[in-house]
Amino acid sequence: MNFRSLFPYFAALLSILIVTLFFFSFRNFILSDLSPVTLSFIIIVLLCASFWGTRPAIFAAIISILSLAYFFLKPIYSFQVSDPKDWFIIVMFFITAIVAGNLYTRAKGREEAEFAKKEIENLYKDLQKENDERKQIEMDLRARTDELTRSNEELEQFAYVASHDLQEPLRLVASFSQLLALHYKGKLDEEADKYIEYIVEAALRMQQLILDLLDYSRITTRGKEFAPVNSENVLNEAILNLKVVIGENNAIISHEPLPTIMGDYSQLVQLFQNLLSNAIKFCGDDQPNINISAEIEGDNWVFQVKDNGIGIEPQYHKRIFEVFERLHERSEYSGTGIGLAISKNIVERHGGRIWVESELNKGSTFYFTIPNRRK
Ligand code: ADP
Repeated sequence: MNFRSLFPYFAALLSILIVTLFFFSFRNFILSDLSPVTLSFIIIVLLCASFWGTRPAIFAAIISILSLAYFFLKPIYSFQVSDPKDWFIIVMFFITAIVAGNLYTRAKGREEAEFAKKEIENLYKDLQKENDERKQIEMDLRARTDELTRSNEELEQFAYVASHDLQEPLRLVASFSQLLALHYKGKLDEEADKYIEYIVEAALRMQQLILDLLDYSRITTRGKEFAPVNSENVLNEAILNLKVVIGENNAIISHEPLPTIMGDYSQLVQLFQNLLSNAIKFCGDDQPNINISAEIEGDNWVFQVKDNGIGIEPQYHKRIFEVFERLHERSEYSGTGIGLAISKNIVERHGGRIWVESELNKGSTFYFTIPNRRK
């Protein structure tokens, strides 16, 4: 019990004491008629009921009756009720306290119910608003997905046009410049020989870039449905495709047991092939030594392709996965800079992510995750 809950009783007691003191001072004048005293007490009981409910009102009624009996009813100071009229006053006090208190409780209950109803209504409105907002977001998302699909289709269309329509004139440029080189090398001056060489090189490189771009644009649009794939078979096929390069560079390739995963077989071959060919290409002066392994971590398989090559400075670890990003001159290392962008797209299409850990001259480890799905 704290002071807050006792306050109504104190307040009732104090007001009855004040009223008693007041009327008791004038008892000689009012003894013949007790109605002003009774009326004042009843008002206090009513006030207690309307502010604090039945209990403080009954308490005020008891104190009022005691005060009346002790100080005002005849014979005075004797604390006994001698007249049936006084009984009537006592009963009236209790009835007033109980009825008014009940009325207060009911009114409060109704008020609380009204309040709760309003709260529920507000809650419902909030929920409806949230639901509307969610629906709007879903609609926006669907619109954006449609837009993305459309722009992907456009990109694919563009890549097709680029590869098909642009390749034809490009092939002409390449073959005629090669013919020029063949027939006129040494017959014109040295400058002319150099220019022809540049043209041939540029045309061939452009052909390669266009083919790579076509590959890149087809990862999501032309991907096959996922099926269970044994990643050791995938690795073996990638190694077979790179047989010549591996032989030329005396590369050592080893691997730990690799899991069966859900994926697109040919894209996974391409992924391994890109990572392996980079590991061989960027080997520096040492014999390439590459190890492939996989570990389960939570819901994902984490694959590692570790090499002993030239390494990559930390500031380039993100950039190398963007289209046409390269860290070296073409004279140093060949390539168009799209291999890792394609690898990233493949991994993301499979629901995973790809990253590299490396330091300059300390080799590189490329990691990628593939969700461990059964179907
Ligand atoms: P490309 O091999 O055609 O240059 P990639 O997209 O495959 O293009 O690679 C981008 C760049 O990342 C490379 O030019 C190279 O600088 C760097 N890189 C990729 N793999 C390795 C690796 N295993 N070791 C060192 N550098 C690498």
